[in-house]
Amino acid sequence: MQKVDVLIVGAGPAGSTLSHFLHKLNIDHLLIDKKSFPRDKICGDGLTVDVLNVLKRISPDLLEKFKHENEMLPSWGFCFHGPKGQQLRYDFKNAGFPIAPFFTSRRIDLDHFLIRELPQNGSGRFWHDTELKGLRREGEGFIAELKQVEGNRNLQCKVVIGAEGEKPVVTRYLGLEHFREKENLLAAIRIYYKNLQGFNEGNHLEFFFDKDLIPGYFWTFPLTNNEANTGLGMLSTAIAAQKVNLKKSFEDIIQNNPYLAPRFEGAEAIEKPQGWGLPTMTPKRKIGGEGYALIGDAGGMIEAFTGKGIGPGMMSARIASEYIETAFQKNQFDFSDYHNHMYRYYRNEIKNTYRLQNGLQNIWVLNSVMSLASWSPIQKAARDKMIRDFLKWV
Ligand SMILES: Cc1cc2nc3c(=O)[nH]c(=O)nc-3n(C[C@H](O)[C@H](O)[C@H](O)COP(=O)(O)OP(=O)(O)OC[C@H]3O[C@@H](n4cnc5c(N)ncnc54)[C@H](O)[C@@H]3O)c2cc1C
Repeated sequence: MQKVDVLIVGAGPAGSTLSHFLHKLNIDHLLIDKKSFPRDKICGDGLTVDVLNVLKRISPDLLEKFKHENEMLPSWGFCFHGPKGQQLRYDFKNAGFPIAPFFTSRRIDLDHFLIRELPQNGSGRFWHDTELKGLRREGEGFIAELKQVEGNRNLQCKVVIGAEGEKPVVTRYLGLEHFREKENLLAAIRIYYKNLQGFNEGNHLEFFFDKDLIPGYFWTFPLTNNEANTGLGMLSTAIAAQKVNLKKSFEDIIQNNPYLAPRFEGAEAIEKPQGWGLPTMTPKRKIGGEGYALIGDAGGMIEAFTGKGIGPGMMSARIASEYIETAFQKNQFDFSDYHNHMYRYYRNEIKNTYRLQNGLQNIWVLNSVMSLASWSPIQKAARDKMIRDFLKWV
């Protein structure tokens, strides 16, 4: 039976980032994905500064290559549009950053880029069209059952990393508790559009709060080739309680919202609406234990307010790689401390985003927060803080 030290299940941004780090550490590993690449993933395609930080930590050359890819669009800010048309815009064009703090990239391109740039002759391999179909503990490690076009095969590994996204099979096969903060789960749909009007010249990411979509928001993110990623997301509990049909809400909003409808005049949908769940971050979800760690969506790493999960997923991969290195040095494979490290790191973010998510469930609170935050001394203070935070990352 074939043996490998580390098996990484899933080659989205979390899994491929871990493979990059394990190559750097010269640790024997196999990255598998049930799909062949390039492949799409339903997402908003908005990349935050933590993504840039991890790319740079993999190598400054990788970040340079990323910047020069044709499909990566730099974005210099973002704007919240309130229900009454209020705008809270943050622009960082003249903030002295060496690189735009945000980018957009269709996931088909980002995920393929991360796979394509893996070293060819390093300590790891990538097998596409390879699905994890079973996993059991045996001896000091695991036996994984892999399904490939040619048939099933078994593989022995010492460490298994779950990076398989929102439907976590490693969790299921190992019989781990799949804890979710049901109150905070989000669901969203995405539709790619062509010829959407009115984007800011700095390619700002835009979030719209509509009175009929509380607690939730609509987004429009510009992409290359005059296309845009648009969609809307809402708390799952509210979708159930209010019997919301996200596809219908999308249609209603682009026809009736006075600030969005003009933007969609002459625009053309280039796909049907596609939905996906967003497992939100919570320290109550155990993400590390004997012989295993969960990274990215497989461990529930999405920020509850904005829905951002790519940066946290890549960051969790970076942190996990350090624990994997130590584990092989000490020959001890308990990853409980990875769990603690990850949640110490994201503690404030989790607290703040849950607070925002809970606070903005009421339209009166939302309007009041928008008005207060637009007051120029507060807006300036918030912008200055963001600049300080971003500069730490890039
Ligand atoms: C509508 C929507 C909008 C979003 N917008 C944003 C955004 O703008 N910015 C942002 O940062 N985040 C956003 N997110 C969150 C983001 O998409 C996820 O957090 C991110 O994709 C997580 O990456 P991952 O590598 O953990 O998992 P994934 O990207 O889901 O990759 C998992 C991989 O595992 C593979 N796999 C699954 N099962 C198996 C198996 N049994 N065997 C082998 N392989 C398997 C899959 O084929 C897949 O390639 C959004 C999410 C949604 C749903």
